[in-house]
Amino acid sequence: MTDLRSVTVLVPGRLHQHSIDRIGQAFDMIRIARADPALLTDAQKASVRGIAASPSPGDTFIGPDVMRALPNLEIVANFGVGYDGVDANFAGRHGIMITNTPDVLTEEVADTALGLLISTVRELPAAESWLRVGRWRSEGNYPLSRLTLRGRKVGIFGMGRIGLAIARRLEAFGLPVAYHNRRRVEGLAYEYHDTLKGLATAVDTLVSVVPGTAPTEKAVNAEVLTALGPDGVFVNVGRGSTVDEPALAAALANGTIAAAGLDVFANEPDVPQSLLDAPNTVLLPHVASASQHTRRAMADLVVDNLVSWFSQGRALTTVPETAQVRPE
Ligand code: NDP
Repeated sequence: MTDLRSVTVLVPGRLHQHSIDRIGQAFDMIRIARADPALLTDAQKASVRGIAASPSPGDTFIGPDVMRALPNLEIVANFGVGYDGVDANFAGRHGIMITNTPDVLTEEVADTALGLLISTVRELPAAESWLRVGRWRSEGNYPLSRLTLRGRKVGIFGMGRIGLAIARRLEAFGLPVAYHNRRRVEGLAYEYHDTLKGLATAVDTLVSVVPGTAPTEKAVNAEVLTALGPDGVFVNVGRGSTVDEPALAAALANGTIAAAGLDVFANEPDVPQSLLDAPNTVLLPHVASASQHTRRAMADLVVDNLVSWFSQGRALTTVPETAQVRPE
């Protein structure tokens, strides 16, 4: 059996402390400030067999440059179910395993999505500010919310693990659900639309929970928002890259849709001023899975994947692009 202490795992940039503690105990760990091979000596580059990281599409991206620089790299354990911070297609073509952290965060993200939806429709953050700044006392009751969940029909863009958990909650709220994926989910009774525009036309509330990929890039555009309509509410807990943000800001400003609740943005942590200024947005700093409980479970799964790969020769939660990768 492999002595894990002889296996070198690189941790570039920030990572959950629990992952770092476990990797430090089990493996030979190298930490560097960011995913930049120039920060490693040649000997270190040759020694690295695994990476554990919480990368993102920006400057912490784990792309071909990083993977090519590490000739003995076997696995990248990604913190998060979304793995748009790693070039998984390149990894798949070069025999490098990529793992993510599905399932352990599904219910948490679905909970947050519902919280964000209700906050957006019923203006709960604005109502709370009303109380905190003393307007309840000085001016009386907070104005009645223009919007309600009652009578809404919700479209889910991305009926995967999290989309389904959101749909189940919406059912309990008494709301009809429809969805769009590239493929109909077999055995699922919810109304299916084979285009996003078709879904947006059929509903007044759109919840996006698709991965950030080339095909989903700016998929929620002016046309989709127009189809959603003037009572439309858009909620995004997927990825910011899936939204044409200037088109969304314009739609919110000119009444093309009524309101938006956003947990994710195209260029985090920068949030467009137009969205910050809009009175009909509820904005969260990418916190959908961010409880201590769930982040710890994700941190464990990152390390469990590394341990399983190097001790059993198999990963636990493989992304589809690298499903065929086997240890040498
Ligand atoms: P899944 O892979 O289970 O679901 C993704 C769904 O999106 C699938 O149903 C898939 O169906 C659909 N989809 C993918 N590409 C397209 C496309 N081009 N057009 C239409 N539908 C598409 O993932 P999860 O539910 O576990 O997670 C979804 C995403 O949520 C993650 O990738 C991540 O980006 C995001 N997320 C955000 C979090 C946050 O903190 N805000 C936390 C956790 C996740 P099909 O393949 O049939 O098209």
